[in-house]
Amino acid sequence: MIYVVGSGPAGVSCAHALLAKGYEVTLLDAGVVLDKDKQKILAILQKKKKWPAELVEKIKCKLDVGAKDGPYKLSYGSDYPYREVQDHIHLDVQGALCRPSFAKGGLSTVWGAAVLPYIDEDIVDWPVKIKKLAPYYRKVLSFMKIAAVKDELVQRFPLYTKKYDTFNPSEQATLLLGHFRKHKTELYEQGFRFGSSRLAVRFAAEESKPGCVYCGLCLYGCPNQLIYSAAGTIDELRKYETFTYVPDVVVDKVVEQKEGVTIVARSRSKKEPCEFSGSHVFIGCGAIPTTKILLASMNAVGKKVTLRDSQQFLVPCFAYKGVRDIVHKKLHTLCQLYVEILDTALDKRHIHAQVYTYNDVYDQWLKKKFGVLCKLLAIPFKFVMGHVVVLKVFLHSDSSGKIDVSLDKSGKLIVRGLPLKSKKTLRAILWKLMCNHRLLGFFPLLPLVKSSKPGGANHYGGSFPMRKRPGMFESDVLGRPRGFKRVHAVDSTVLPAIASQTITFTIMANAYRIGSEFDGVAAGVPEVRVALPIEEKVQGNIYIS
Ligand SMILES: Cc1cc2nc3c(=O)[nH]c(=O)nc-3n(C[C@H](O)[C@H](O)[C@H](O)COP(=O)(O)OP(=O)(O)OC[C@H]3O[C@@H](n4cnc5c(N)ncnc54)[C@H](O)[C@@H]3O)c2cc1C
Ligand code: SF4
Repeated sequence: MIYVVGSGPAGVSCAHALLAKGYEVTLLDAGVVLDKDKQKILAILQKKKKWPAELVEKIKCKLDVGAKDGPYKLSYGSDYPYREVQDHIHLDVQGALCRPSFAKGGLSTVWGAAVLPYIDEDIVDWPVKIKKLAPYYRKVLSFMKIAAVKDELVQRFPLYTKKYDTFNPSEQATLLLGHFRKHKTELYEQGFRFGSSRLAVRFAAEESKPGCVYCGLCLYGCPNQLIYSAAGTIDELRKYETFTYVPDVVVDKVVEQKEGVTIVARSRSKKEPCEFSGSHVFIGCGAIPTTKILLASMNAVGKKVTLRDSQQFLVPCFAYKGVRDIVHKKLHTLCQLYVEILDTALDKRHIHAQVYTYNDVYDQWLKKKFGVLCKLLAIPFKFVMGHVVVLKVFLHSDSSGKIDVSLDKSGKLIVRGLPLKSKKTLRAILWKLMCNHRLLGFFPLLPLVKSSKPGGANHYGGSFPMRKRPGMFESDVLGRPRGFKRVHAVDSTVLPAIASQTITFTIMANAYRIGSEFDGVAAGVPEVRVALPIEEKVQGNIYIS
């Protein structure tokens, strides 16, 4: 038996690959699901053409927009993606923002669904090149549907599929993109590239399933469940008779023997110990939990490994062209546009920016900031909202802070953020945006710029980086840390550097590659069955049960 641990994007991609090759796979997972009352509300909303306002209110969270570390993103007003982690993993975090997940689907239950592949120029220190990853980006898109546009970005960042949905960009995004295109030659000379965002969202209606109604609720959780979640892929994988999903299991460590591997675990709800024996294990628990499992399995108490982070900062901007009555427009509120900057005077690697236009979180922020004044200033605020866009800017891990991780004697995982001492790159990027404000059609509101702590972007990994010849606390190209033959890490734990573009698509492609390149016959896997064909069907609605 082959075990995969974790039902997030990494775990499901690896399981997909192993099942497609004909292996029998059992997926162990902590498996926390959405609260029953919220599930009921979603079921009701999906049957109704007009959504009752009181039900919508119940799945809208009240974000703490003034929080020091930025708003804590919930899913349908529930914190279930992050629930119960501390009870089992015992994290001691300082100077970093790390929120691992025990959810069925992992952090894809709450993510922003932005996808863009990595390119060779940004991963020069990887032993795996894009030529090797490319077929697996394609495989991932056979079960994760995306919406995209074949535009200017395709020359540098391939789409890897011919089957994709499209979406209606917001009016603000359309105005901005039009402006960029008008100044394309000058922007290109300055190292800017731009285009539509690519989103792992099923926008189009399918058979009896509703499509996007541009209700603007995306950041709270889509009532029609159109945003990709790996939880939906678990349900699809159940079509393989060789697949078993076992929730309520928290893995502590793995012990490798000559003939196989023992997985030492506990039940999540009852905390009772349990064990599983198999031939191989593929661990995709997210960088923090996987690092803890590997350190515990190596008895590496007190040894330090370092996670590489892709640092993020938020740059609110004022766009010259605005949209009237923005609060009543029909729109989606996920990322609208991508802007890629390659200017070696700023950074040797690409800087990736995601453009967000109006969403009602901005109103919440204004209310928090200005209190009662908000009512008096309602008209000017409405005008300003039509002009505000927010850039989420991501840096390559070479230009970002880091996170040190170690295991102490009591089993606690000590996590320490090491922010970049110098703000040189951040200042240089802001200066570049200022200098090009006319061409870009917006200028950054400098006093409102917010830089995140290490880990804040949720784009980190590399504590056991893949190397051609792995040393201590490094892995081979199949994600096996040195000293292990039957234990593979398949999530961002093994990525040698984190590029600025979105991390999850590459985590998934690499996990699929590891599952695909695994040679079970050579490794003595006892039974290889013929795989049942799974319908060539892309991910639609997710149903959490
Ligand atoms: C608010 C937010 C927005 C984001 N937006 C984007 C975005 O737009 N684009 C992007 O590319 N990325 C985004 N990300 C990051 C993205 O969600 C992660 O990169 C991705 O989910 C990582 O996948 P994973 O499978 O490695 O881990 P996870 O998604 O964390 O899944 C881990 C899985 O392992 C299981 N597990 C954990 N520990 C154990 C254990 N000890 N035993 C058993 N099971 C265990 C969990 O139950 C879960 O199923 C975002 C993240 C957040 C939080
Ligand atoms: S706008 Fe967002 S929340 Fe609304 S239906 Fe479309 S994807 Fe879902």
